[in-house]
Amino acid sequence: MNCVFCKIINKKIPANIVYEDKKTIAIYDIKPKAEIHILIIPKKHIKSIITLKEKDKEIITNLIFTAKKIAKEKKLKGYKLIFNVEKKGGQIISHLHLHLLGGKIENPLNI
Ligand code: AMP
Repeated sequence: MNCVFCKIINKKIPANIVYEDKKTIAIYDIKPKAEIHILIIPKKHIKSIITLKEKDKEIITNLIFTAKKIAKEKKLKGYKLIFNVEKKGGQIISHLHLHLLGGKIENPLNI
């Protein structure tokens, strides 16, 4: 499958990894739109929130709790969590991911 995030998960291409466990990986965004811009990605390939199945709903909880953990480590007192959903929602990479944005943020509507 020609998916950038699958390649990162499978260590076929490098990334700046912030956190990793059995189900989730978190990496620094290659083109940060905030002082801290981290992508939290489930290892299971799911295209987007639209294609997410009820049986996989735990994945969303894992993403959010991973974001909480990372934000705490980075000492963020507040932050934004954003899902872009499909092309019309600004999603460029067709592998579900959660944006964690902290510090000075460029334009949150353009993430
Ligand atoms: P989205 O528009 O929600 O699909 O966001 C995809 C994000 O992935 C963008 O913010 C990109 O800058 C980021 N991105 C693309 N390729 C890479 C990569 N190889 N490593 C880290 N971040 C990436």
